[in-house]
Amino acid sequence: EHILNNYEFHWGLGRGSFGKVFLASLPMKKERVAVKVIRKTPREDQKDMIKKEARILKVTSGSPFLCRGFAAFQTNQYAFLVMEYAGGGSLRNLLSIKHHLKKRHIIFYSAELICGLQYLHSLGIIHRDLKPENILLTCEGHMKIADFGVAAEGVFDHKTIGGKTGTNWYMAPEMLANKKYNAAIDWWSFGIILSEMATGRSPFDSYQDDVRSSMLTEKPVFPDWMSETLQDLLQKLLKKRPHKRLGVNGNIREHPLYKKISWEDV
Ligand code: ADP
Ligand code: MG
Ligand code: MG
Repeated sequence: EHILNNYEFHWGLGRGSFGKVFLASLPMKKERVAVKVIRKTPREDQKDMIKKEARILKVTSGSPFLCRGFAAFQTNQYAFLVMEYAGGGSLRNLLSIKHHLKKRHIIFYSAELICGLQYLHSLGIIHRDLKPENILLTCEGHMKIADFGVAAEGVFDHKTIGGKTGTNWYMAPEMLANKKYNAAIDWWSFGIILSEMATGRSPFDSYQDDVRSSMLTEKPVFPDWMSETLQDLLQKLLKKRPHKRLGVNGNIREHPLYKKISWEDV
């Protein structure tokens, strides 16, 4: 009998461009899981993408801030990725309720994201689609970076790769300009997400023309009421030139915004 029949499916948790995610459980176990269901197409590159996502989900258990995978299997029609269930909804969901977050919450959440992201990068994986929809919260209120569907593997040290993927709004200038890039693109997205946590909007959306061209040419704009420390961090994350960007250049953990964080305990 197929392994799929062991799972009891409850209800849908969300959907993205590639799959539908359901809350499910094994009848013998109390623990609930999230199962991403992807309808298979005959395309070879889709097969590779699913395999890659499953492969990455096998190594995410090394960080508490990455969504971990438990199993992967398939039927003729569908591929199934079984993951830990993050019951607190997505960061997008949180931002749509709260509009923007308090400074101490921004510090707490972003410190967890830094840990998750640095771990991912230490494995040579760049996420390439960091955005609030792909950042989840656990029931206890911790961050989980999820959705490794368009991630790239084997990007260590000074290696750069090509290929445009992800979401325009969060896309680093070098990728927008079709240049080669490295892990610095994730730090750019992280900077946009951090701005959104703080103000509810992108620091580029006050420009008249489209956000994409302002990301390439304009300086980010922050409201006066934003603390100088946070503005300083954001400015350093949203550097157009990737090698100057905090995250790849310098130790982000040492930024004054995080002076009260003892990183060993995060
Ligand atoms: P896609 O690759 O299609 O974008 P995602 O992996 O981002 O799929 O999942 C789509 C949505 O499903 C997410 O934005 C989130 O709302 C929900 N979701 C995904 N994984 C989980 C999970 N582990 N726990 C709870 N909800 C999840
Ligand atoms: Mg997604
Ligand atoms: Mg995806």
